[in-house]
Amino acid sequence: MSRKGKAKKRKAERLRNKKLIDRYPWISPVNWHWKRIPSYDFTMYDDVPKGWKRAFGKIMLEEYREALIRCNYLDKFQWIQVKEKYGTLRLYSNAAPKEVSDLESKYDHISGYFCIECGRMNVPVLTGGWVEPLCEDCYNKRIARQKRWHEKDHPDREFKYTPYKNLKKEEQKLDMIAVYKHFSADRGDYEEKRDYSDTINKIIARQGKLFG
Ligand SMILES: [Zn+2]
Repeated sequence: MSRKGKAKKRKAERLRNKKLIDRYPWISPVNWHWKRIPSYDFTMYDDVPKGWKRAFGKIMLEEYREALIRCNYLDKFQWIQVKEKYGTLRLYSNAAPKEVSDLESKYDHISGYFCIECGRMNVPVLTGGWVEPLCEDCYNKRIARQKRWHEKDHPDREFKYTPYKNLKKEEQKLDMIAVYKHFSADRGDYEEKRDYSDTINKIIARQGKLFG
């Protein structure tokens, strides 16, 4: 791409980021001290893997927004780190009302069932080495990419890989109800069940549009 083309692309990206930050102020970028940076070069939402953005990104952002407005916390809330860990989405924020911070465990639960690359639901989670939910198509695309790099770098050596069917993985089916185990001094061990069917049904409706 030409320099002019790149500059144009960056400008469009910043404009997109500004629109997102105006509606979802907590995805504003932060520095190492978790202070907001007045910049539209990137957003904290950028760190959500693309398959998850596709499957439920906007649903999640809107759900946060509604909860924050209800709690009168929209301008005080801030994501300070967003990442994937052990195959699920981890959202870290400043202190927030419970209704808002409960969304972190909700999306931690939900995300683990969706392909991290394309957003397809109920895909197996790979468990050998890197733990991540990944569908067969996306695995094969990844292998094809690696094969191209390999052939460029080492044309003399054979490219080896494990076929998807031989990978270590666990089949999964998204549970509408998450069970959390807690301990407290007065109650001892106890379970808390949270019903996520409202959000999950919205996400399922979107799957139909995405994958037909
Ligand atoms: Zn996929």
